[in-house]
Amino acid sequence: MTTFEEAPRASLEKLIALPGRQAYDKSVRVFNLAAAPAPAAAATATTVDDVRTAVRYARQEGLGVRMHSTGHAAASGRPVGAGDLLIRTELEGGVEIDTARRIARVPAGTQWGAVIDAAQRHGLAAPHGSSGLVGVVGYLLRGGVSFYGRAKGLAVNCVRAIELVTADGQLRRVDLSSDPELFWALRGGGGGFGVVTAVDIELFAATSVVTGATYWSAVHADRILSRWLRWSRSAPPEATTAFRVMNLPPLPEIPAALTAGPVVCVDGAVLGSPGTDGAQRIADELLNPLREVGEALVDTWHAGRPSAVAQTHMDPTEPFPMYGDHLLLDELDADGAAEFLRLVGIGSGSPLVNAELRQLGGALSVPPDTGGALASLDARFAYMGGGVPFEPVTVDDIHAHCAAVREVLEPWNTGWTAPTFIDHYAQPQAHLSAETVAAVDEIRRRIDPAGLFRGDIATNATALS
Ligand SMILES: Cc1cc2nc3c(=O)[nH]c(=O)nc-3n(C[C@H](O)[C@H](O)[C@H](O)COP(=O)(O)OP(=O)(O)OC[C@H]3O[C@@H](n4cnc5c(N)ncnc54)[C@H](O)[C@@H]3O)c2cc1C
Repeated sequence: MTTFEEAPRASLEKLIALPGRQAYDKSVRVFNLAAAPAPAAAATATTVDDVRTAVRYARQEGLGVRMHSTGHAAASGRPVGAGDLLIRTELEGGVEIDTARRIARVPAGTQWGAVIDAAQRHGLAAPHGSSGLVGVVGYLLRGGVSFYGRAKGLAVNCVRAIELVTADGQLRRVDLSSDPELFWALRGGGGGFGVVTAVDIELFAATSVVTGATYWSAVHADRILSRWLRWSRSAPPEATTAFRVMNLPPLPEIPAALTAGPVVCVDGAVLGSPGTDGAQRIADELLNPLREVGEALVDTWHAGRPSAVAQTHMDPTEPFPMYGDHLLLDELDADGAAEFLRLVGIGSGSPLVNAELRQLGGALSVPPDTGGALASLDARFAYMGGGVPFEPVTVDDIHAHCAAVREVLEPWNTGWTAPTFIDHYAQPQAHLSAETVAAVDEIRRRIDPAGLFRGDIATNATALS
């Protein structure tokens, strides 16, 4: 490996792309088309040396460094612009599994689908989110809320080591013993420490999982929601589910039964224990009372392998423009449920493709002793509402409706937010306490005194006091 000062001119020219070049377009490509980055220069880094070369270039040119992997969260940071170099991390090497220690080493740029497949071959699973296309690093650094979350906690708590290139060009391997302060700040502290090149994560045993989604016409929304809420109050932690009201567009990949009008959906996963039928029993206790409410349009719940969990939510697989909002909510009583459905249920005229209540609690609310800056969520539900400007819906329609939903949910709003569910950097955000923000800032000043990575910091400085 070359030293930081020695990056040869030829490697700079090969790596750094300016606007107008094909390599630039590839490096700035994002999944969320609502926020196209327009940096001064861009690079796709496939090796640690590439990352160090790119960081060196940014310092020489007086540019800030921003990074991304898939661009699923492209709109959630301050816009990437003329003062920035954008590094797309696509590190080589693939997922490596140490089965004895149940540790996966994951190069930056890897999407969750690759980890799910590699882990499954050994009877193991990882705390991924609803889509296998989301990037491992961006999801983990911001917390990560999985359908295994109530059983296993916030996904970031499974991180055992992080390798990153810092502003001085050094490749550091950071864990609980090498630099406990930086390891703490990296895990949920909002970014701005360096370019992560790989993470080690702890996997868990998962031979059987019960997972799926049941959809009904939205005429059944109030009874489904009230039964789901009642079940959720004493639900076992093995189960993590979501209640959703959806207005799905007539796309070829979506069953026609679901696009004829608004539908409601209960989906998620129940993590089983080897040799028991407990997961199926838990799923039945949830689903049987719901199935009595009305005939399902589609019902995919089944006992399957962990890879099925990333199919359950039917997340989009092609880039599209997303606009949305998010709140962390307290217990939702009958009034809260009624207000929510008044704004997003049948007859509301809601333009939101998805208005979702994700079940929290269980291990998600318990920070482990060795957790990072963000290690738990103190709320009962995560609300996410989002739309896509399909004709005749406009971006303004979506924003106006999100604002109206926010207003009616205010009595149940905790004021806190989960970083991964932020769609847009200007949304109100409060992921960390003021004390935690101050402690993270101090560590950031030690690691990046000149503020090379400052633009990458998630907008969480407005912590609740
Ligand atoms: C369809 C869909 C489904 C989702 N489902 C869930 C879910 O179930 N649960 C959940 O919690 N979230 C979910 N999310 C949100 C998702 O977890 C966040 O958008 C996450 O930040 C995406 O990470 P990424 O690396 O793919 O995105 P990117 O936009 O590439 O990166 C996001 C941020 O991560 C940081 N980052 C990325 N790579 C690096 C690197 N190499 N070094 C340093 N920093 C880096 C940067 O700050 C970057 O701005 C979903 C999003 C979508 C669009």
